[in-house]
Amino acid sequence: MLELVEVSYKTNEKEILSNVSMKFLPGYKYAVIGTNGAGKSTIGYVIMGLSSYKPYKGKILLNGKDITDLPVTERAKLGITLMWQEPARFEGMTIENYLTLGGKLSVQKSEVAEAMEFVGLNPNLYLKRFVDKTLSGGERKRVELASIILLKPKYAILDEPDSGIDLMSLSIINDVVNYIAQYGGTPIIITHREEMAYNTDYGYLICAGKVLMHGKTEDVLNAFRNTCETCAHPNIPEI
Ligand code: ADP
Ligand code: MG
Ligand code: MG
Repeated sequence: MLELVEVSYKTNEKEILSNVSMKFLPGYKYAVIGTNGAGKSTIGYVIMGLSSYKPYKGKILLNGKDITDLPVTERAKLGITLMWQEPARFEGMTIENYLTLGGKLSVQKSEVAEAMEFVGLNPNLYLKRFVDKTLSGGERKRVELASIILLKPKYAILDEPDSGIDLMSLSIINDVVNYIAQYGGTPIIITHREEMAYNTDYGYLICAGKVLMHGKTEDVLNAFRNTCETCAHPNIPEI
């Protein structure tokens, strides 16, 4: 289990997260829901342990072990991964190299091809393409999703997985999310869009850096839609 215990985070004296407590259990699918600017990405960065995203209060536990002071690389080794809202580019690196960690990941060529097909990338066309600016945003996200399929992280935080992706691939994202839960991993979808949360079991509603409520996704979406005035702006475009 991955757990945030009363995590607070601030930058330049501005409080971004206040007393955020969350629990993520293996095999369940989670949504972190909130309008733009609520603090969702920051939660992802704090869980991942990006430098300069250290809480000033509270702790992060993995199976009861305090990982609050572990650097991002150590957390990655423990099976936590983050798919960025805007995935990074790597000049000169092929998709094949990227997906196999430069050949270090012990996977068959056929597994790489299957993972690519799973996310709608034809391996014959894409394997030797570069993970650089010649890929569209949607293609970059598909590469990230393929990498999750191959790496099988225990906790996969997907930050706005549908941003920069065409509508058709919403079903691909859902397939990947289901795949993660099926191997016993925990997908955590960060989103400001209701449709993106439908395929999750449990939700956290974030408003102004606080957990406003949590529970069955359906109930959380109702609150997001109806009861929380400051949060009920799902139509504000993501910036
Ligand atoms: P979300 O992902 O929900 O859209 P973010 O976590 O990106 O929200 O941001 C939450 C709030 O924190 C926003 O008001 C944002 O402007 C602010 N914020 C994020 N990063 C910084 C930073 N480095 N310095 C100052 N403010 C920041
Ligand atoms: Mg945002
Ligand atoms: Mg964000």
